[in-house]
Amino acid sequence: MSKFLSQKYFTLEEYVPGEQPRDKKYIKLNTNESPYPPSPGVIEAINSDAVRDLRLYSDPESRLLKTTIAENYGVSFENVYVANGSDDILNFAFMAYGDKGVVYPAISYGFYSVFAKLNGITPEEIPLEKDFSIDIRKYFNKNKLICIANPNAPTGITLSLQEIRQILDTNPDNIVLIDEAYVDFGGESALPLIQEYNNLLVVQTFSKSRSMAGARLGFAFGNKEIIADLEKLKYSTNPYNINRLTQIAGVKAIEENSYYMDNCKEIIETREFTVSALKEMGFYVTNSKANFIFAKSDKISGESLYIKLKEKGILVRHFSKKEITDFNRITIGSKEEMESLVKAIGDILKQGEKSK
Ligand code: PMP
Repeated sequence: MSKFLSQKYFTLEEYVPGEQPRDKKYIKLNTNESPYPPSPGVIEAINSDAVRDLRLYSDPESRLLKTTIAENYGVSFENVYVANGSDDILNFAFMAYGDKGVVYPAISYGFYSVFAKLNGITPEEIPLEKDFSIDIRKYFNKNKLICIANPNAPTGITLSLQEIRQILDTNPDNIVLIDEAYVDFGGESALPLIQEYNNLLVVQTFSKSRSMAGARLGFAFGNKEIIADLEKLKYSTNPYNINRLTQIAGVKAIEENSYYMDNCKEIIETREFTVSALKEMGFYVTNSKANFIFAKSDKISGESLYIKLKEKGILVRHFSKKEITDFNRITIGSKEEMESLVKAIGDILKQGEKSK
């Protein structure tokens, strides 16, 4: 930190992304990326004349991309916002709607607390229940920005639309942001509710189900006034926030939606295979509807399992927060990758028994 940094950032604890090591090739199950490549049309579009056009700025309105998303999701152009990853949208939403504070589950996406601090917003972190579920009554009548990941991360546990409705009904004077980064793997989207509720912002991403984490593309739905608020902040920060190649890739990815939805089905099947295999080895696994699972064993600590898997060339995500330190979050990779994981865990547990 230099002596020139604004004092208001001295105590900012930045978000720590999952490891992206370069020392060797790992089976990478630590940052919830898709094991599948983007669809053929996306790869072709990026390899085309589009690259030559990089000398030109991108369309600040992302017209084609927003129109394509709007058609696919059955909403109007004015209901769609796009940004450089959904992280950007979360940041803008905190900036725009956090004046009275923000509420989110104490165990959830780690970036929420960073965005709160960055924007000088007082956070209220509501503990999860013992089984890691969210008790919606704790979110009634908050009169502050509410931010809930559904499915939640790192647990993968979902809320129903009925429950989200109750949170919306009891918070008419503040924004309720539903972060649906993982919704395509088995959650229920709150998108249909945007017509009914003028306080709802639904945020999604191309990073998980659409195999484009490296392209940085997030999108959001809300009534047109909310979208206009976010546009205002975008045009006051970086009007060209989505580069040309990503806009083109996004359009193609939506046009080839069935490819991605088929991949999601595969990932769901592989998730269920992995859950059964881990349960057979005595693991406790939460009921995840995301492209990751959250698991712990009485036979080995979360940290030891993480370290031993890394030694075997498999990366998973371990968090040191005390409530979840026994667990590991494991991204669902290809069937082969998950078979390797299951075998590696089996070997580690056997090894542990021998050394007892
Ligand atoms: N929300 C949640 C719950 C996430 O886990 C992530 C990814 N780490 C994001 C949002 C951000 O995704 P991106 O910026 O890649 O769209």
